[in-house]
Amino acid sequence: MPVLIDGKATAARCLAETAREISGLRDLGITPGLAVVLVGQDPASMAYVRSKEKTCRDLGMHSVKKELKAETTQEELLALVAELNADPAIHGILVQSPPPPHIDEPAVVRAIDPRKDVDGFHPLNVAALAMDDPAALVPCTPLGCLELLRAYDIPVRGAQVVIVGRSLIVGKPMALLLLHKGTDATVTVAHSRTRDLPAVTRSADIVIAAIGRPKFLGADHVREGAAVIDVGINRVEDPSAPRGYRLVGDVDFDAVAPKCRAITPVPGGVGPMTIAMLMRNTVRACRNIAGVG
Ligand code: NAP
Repeated sequence: MPVLIDGKATAARCLAETAREISGLRDLGITPGLAVVLVGQDPASMAYVRSKEKTCRDLGMHSVKKELKAETTQEELLALVAELNADPAIHGILVQSPPPPHIDEPAVVRAIDPRKDVDGFHPLNVAALAMDDPAALVPCTPLGCLELLRAYDIPVRGAQVVIVGRSLIVGKPMALLLLHKGTDATVTVAHSRTRDLPAVTRSADIVIAAIGRPKFLGADHVREGAAVIDVGINRVEDPSAPRGYRLVGDVDFDAVAPKCRAITPVPGGVGPMTIAMLMRNTVRACRNIAGVG
């Protein structure tokens, strides 16, 4: 049987570490603060925002939630970002993605003070990550995936890693993190135009799936003994579930797990790690801004 990579337990350990750091900062009179901005009422986004806010409060951080109506204009949103940039009690700013279609999301990301960009999406942070600059604020989901590989002693140095998906949020930053000196993976990034995807993913010691298609990767995509990190979170209809849907990953867990040395479940795998890394990034941003090493 494969090792089940427990994201909840690993995230709880990371959060406990972060809570200790926050307590140390509070002893110095500094309380890290995170502002989460939600535009509109997308149910999945609302759930993410609630969970981020709760985690902040549980850790003893200052938490600000700004819920704006779906008709909020670009100018109104930019004005709020400017206000949060100038607020000394706020060290991290996150505008929940995706905003409504009339919002120019890249422009909003560029407006966030890069020192407060705890999502790591600002071009200066993207460049810093590419340059292996230790000051970079790195996107939370790839950080969480790397942390899971470390927590379960899955060797990355020299390993063949295939990432399926090339988004700015997951695939690309994941590739950069794994390529860095010290991490030293050999990385392939696959996408919708990749020829013979099963052959590509079968070459991997580690497969990281960030596609957004329920149960897309099956048994023929994975070789015996590979480790599989499933980033996907997809809602599929299920009349027997209390809410009429359930969450599944991008990997067909039942088909793939028997071939793996280790695999993440969905839910309970990468998801909890993303929030844990967001909290860690906020504390990092706070330390940088406050000049506390
Ligand atoms: P995205 O921006 O839509 O990117 C999806 C990627 O998958 C694209 O690069 C796309 O290729 C590739 N792809 C689509 N169909 C494919 C196919 N048939 N074969 C190979 N590649 C294919 O999605 P994302 O934001 O990266 O998110 C991916 C998944 O992760 C989603 O389920 C999302 O909900 C989940 N997610 C989870 C967390 C978490 O905390 N666990 C965080 C973020 C995202 P092209 O570029 O060629 O179109």
